[in-house]
Amino acid sequence: MTCRCGKTIPDSIIKLAVDTGRNLRCSTCGHGTLASSPILKAVGGAIKFNGSNYDPAHDQKRLSKQIGRVYGAMIDGGWLTLDEIHQVTGDPQASISAQLRHLRKERFGSYSVEKRHRGEKSHGLYEYRLLAPVTP
Ligand SMILES: [Zn+2]
Repeated sequence: MTCRCGKTIPDSIIKLAVDTGRNLRCSTCGHGTLASSPILKAVGGAIKFNGSNYDPAHDQKRLSKQIGRVYGAMIDGGWLTLDEIHQVTGDPQASISAQLRHLRKERFGSYSVEKRHRGEKSHGLYEYRLLAPVTP
């Protein structure tokens, strides 16, 4: 992520902000770059989730924390299977899959989530990686 002043914000700092839910400011210009990031807004509960079994009072907080865990597991940009993400976050694979779809949406930051076979195609195992947001 790059601040509007041109300073590169390291992924480790973004991960810290996601993990702690704290708003961090650019150390060079003081702009609240990270606070304005869609993924951090989502983790902070400011971006609404919706779904067929959605119960706003109960699910908003749970899903906000969950997308933060999935994002944190993927931020290094490595290829991971749903099971490997599960090993990191403890979340069910179906939930992880749903959160990866959320990350592609504009309101969650328009991330590019790539998918490919892991090993023999006939095994039907997939792995995923998170790339930088697709900027218009
Ligand atoms: Zn800055």
